[in-house]
Amino acid sequence: MLKRMLFFCLGIFFFACEKQSPLPINRTSTSELTASDVQYHVNYLASDSLEGRLSGTRGNEKAAAYIIAEFKRFGLLPLGDHDSHEQKFDFVGDVALDANNRLALHRGGSDTTLTIETDFIPAGFSASDSVSGEVVFVGYGISAAQLNYDDYAGAEVKEKVALALRYSPASNNPHASFAKFEPVRYKALQARQHGAKALLIVTPADSTAESLPKLHFDRSAGDAGLPVAYITPAVADWLLAASGQSIKNLQTQINKNQKAASFAIFDSRVAMRVEIKQERCVSANIIGKLAGSDPRFKEQAVIIGAHYDHWGRSGEGVMDPENEGQIHNGADDNASGTAGVLELAQYFAAQEERPRRSLIFMAFSGEELGLLGSAHYVEHPTFPLAQTTAMINMDMIGRLRDSLLVVHGIGTSPQWQAVIERLHQPPQFQLTLKKEGPGPSDHASFYRKNIPVLFFFTNHHEDYHRVTDDADKINADGEARILRFIAGIVTEIADRDSVLHFTKAESEQPVVRGFRVFVGTVPDYAAEVEGMKISGVRKSSPAEKAGLQGGDIIIKFGKFDIKNVYDYTYALGEFSPGQKVPVVVKRGSQTVTLTVILERSQRQ
Ligand SMILES: [Zn+2]
Repeated sequence: MLKRMLFFCLGIFFFACEKQSPLPINRTSTSELTASDVQYHVNYLASDSLEGRLSGTRGNEKAAAYIIAEFKRFGLLPLGDHDSHEQKFDFVGDVALDANNRLALHRGGSDTTLTIETDFIPAGFSASDSVSGEVVFVGYGISAAQLNYDDYAGAEVKEKVALALRYSPASNNPHASFAKFEPVRYKALQARQHGAKALLIVTPADSTAESLPKLHFDRSAGDAGLPVAYITPAVADWLLAASGQSIKNLQTQINKNQKAASFAIFDSRVAMRVEIKQERCVSANIIGKLAGSDPRFKEQAVIIGAHYDHWGRSGEGVMDPENEGQIHNGADDNASGTAGVLELAQYFAAQEERPRRSLIFMAFSGEELGLLGSAHYVEHPTFPLAQTTAMINMDMIGRLRDSLLVVHGIGTSPQWQAVIERLHQPPQFQLTLKKEGPGPSDHASFYRKNIPVLFFFTNHHEDYHRVTDDADKINADGEARILRFIAGIVTEIADRDSVLHFTKAESEQPVVRGFRVFVGTVPDYAAEVEGMKISGVRKSSPAEKAGLQGGDIIIKFGKFDIKNVYDYTYALGEFSPGQKVPVVVKRGSQTVTLTVILERSQRQ
């Protein structure tokens, strides 16, 4: 982890001072939309020297520098900060331990102070706080009414420190119904919910996992709301000795009986101090404009965008976490879309007669971490959103197979269908047109601001979010065909006399695996607040019917205090369809209580 941290935020501090090597600009590229230009861009952006372009890293900055150089070469006007092409934003990129982490134990007449990373380690999502209290063993720390299993039954942990086993009584079977109660974030919610001041986690004696996991940032800025630390089995046994117990015995007993065995540990006390530093990283959206040719229309614009970041060497967010440390080049996701932005920029910049409306080309960063860049842009637009007539997003357009092209967002304007039908010449593509406007990429940020969107995508494949998503697998010819199609659409909407109208268009329900209930809240992953901030609600969803609004921060859901997005997810698991649940939200300076009537999740 330390190694990872070192390379992670390096970019902010050192990149500016580093001597930049010349960028591999392709001087022979043409203003036509060609396969060779597409392949050239993808080859560079998805090369190992860019290290997978994770936001906040040097590789990501190298990608940004390349895009800026190309935008300048094409003559795009700067539309970023301070007359530059860059719009910077910062975010929490990692966590680190401060020097002040302490854990001291007391048992009977003896005291001991533990050594960090040998005897204990805080969890990366722990709250930073100092607490002390008696210790109560709470089994696995699970309270699951559905399973008729409650480790907290008969245990009094109010104002005390809870000590729980990692995993569950069914941990040998990963598909067991206990699986969803195993995450330590879940156990932290339960401990807090039962009034504990802190939570200690001990790895069961028979586990092959390291008893002290490395400090790890789970990509949520919201902390657990109480201090959480892992201790070794030896430390737990030291505490338990006066009670004549051991972790191994307790675990065997619980697993055998499938029943909790919670008790206050005789004459025990813990004093702990956890200090977690959140490390901030900086990344940038790259933005350039081509002014429209018609004085009456040039104050309106069409945005053409794609994200340029990917997962770098991360083991987080990818489908192959076992390859942590290896470069995820992200050729299709999304060097392909970035190449599309560059090609279209060059194509339109070279036209003698430009479209009537202005065109804004945008390469977003932070998409993989939760649409951070596009969310930042729509909150800090550098061109008025009210004058932004459409947004075209390209994310994974490099794997055209059997001419199958998926286009989302058709329902976000009543005019889209006709535009597409007029410009598509069968059998050019096998089009799959989808109505919905929200979705798993940056167009969702613009849709939330009532801007008609289209999202182009050549569908999922087995290399998605894996180290095998490489440049040699790109169908550059297919992508050039898609870009010619998109260029026609852009021309049409930038030239038309009337603007596109916006309509809300959402699928009935998103597929959320493992949930029995549907609420329809859209989390704002970029928010750094206590609670769960939502960026919007789905159309006709229970959340919309209850009166929840974008910008609301959910702080209580039923009896559960919500400190972060994880708490919310786990709280949902405790309810059934049809239940009426009081939800407390912070809305500006007010606190509002609403009632949500939960619906059944359609597919599981
Ligand atoms: Zn992705």
